[in-house]
Amino acid sequence: MVEIEILHEDDKSMQLLLKKTDRALANALRRTMIADVPKFAIHRMRMDIGMITDEADGKTYESLGAMSDEMLAHRCAMVPVPTFIDEFHFQDECPDCKDLVPEQRGCPQCSVIYAIEQKGTEEGHTVTAEHLVVMGDMKLQIPEEFRTIPLTKLYKGQYLKAVLWAVLGRGRDHAKFSPVAGVTFRPRQIGVMAKPRKAKLLFDLDLNITRKDFTKGVLDDVDKVDLLRSDLNHVGEGTAREAEFDGAIVLEDVEDEFVFSFETDGSMTARTCFEQACSELNSRFVDLAKDIDNAL
Ligand SMILES: [Zn+2]
Repeated sequence: MVEIEILHEDDKSMQLLLKKTDRALANALRRTMIADVPKFAIHRMRMDIGMITDEADGKTYESLGAMSDEMLAHRCAMVPVPTFIDEFHFQDECPDCKDLVPEQRGCPQCSVIYAIEQKGTEEGHTVTAEHLVVMGDMKLQIPEEFRTIPLTKLYKGQYLKAVLWAVLGRGRDHAKFSPVAGVTFRPRQIGVMAKPRKAKLLFDLDLNITRKDFTKGVLDDVDKVDLLRSDLNHVGEGTAREAEFDGAIVLEDVEDEFVFSFETDGSMTARTCFEQACSELNSRFVDLAKDIDNAL
């Protein structure tokens, strides 16, 4: 049975130590996070096209902008939309919409609507994610930290008015539905002091790791091993000290243990993403087991 230890965790990132497992499972977890964990993203956009006259200032505006409509739609799609997976359905599984044709789908259970209405200025007005106004529950508003994401710029006489629909999707269909960035794993390593006398060369450089960090010639703390790895760049292969150091400290892989790290794009917490990935994987394995049972 796999054992998982949380090494570091904050809202947006996590580092885990996977034990008693293999590369295949760690990679399955990685791929599930990238491709299978559901996430909300803007999927449809309806823009007003034409001229309008602002009654307040009497000026005329035209639906133009610095960016093409397709590019603008794409930029909106990449904005992290807060995702509360348990409270929504996929459109093709939504109790109210699944029997409708795709163009007619969309209800409060399966989509989130945003509206944007901005006018340009002489010096140029940058439209940002802050101007995407959610129609409904305020918890679905774009989070504070992403509100500065620029979408387009409007100059004198230009305006942008649009309605945008966000729906649940999966990263395997489009990268905008992928909730993670930088999902990596590598074998857990430990530092082994093979030649204590020659290792002095590294400790004398007064970098991060000292002799005291080793217990009986071994360094196994995951964070300290990371520091050791960077320290070894000063004495390892390709450096002038390589011959003198002579592999006095080496990094060795620990069998069946992996350090797994990832961060989310902010649409959900790292913990939610991890739990979702586990449950997606679990359901897939259960389905597979059923198929095998049926086949045999
Ligand atoms: Zn629906």
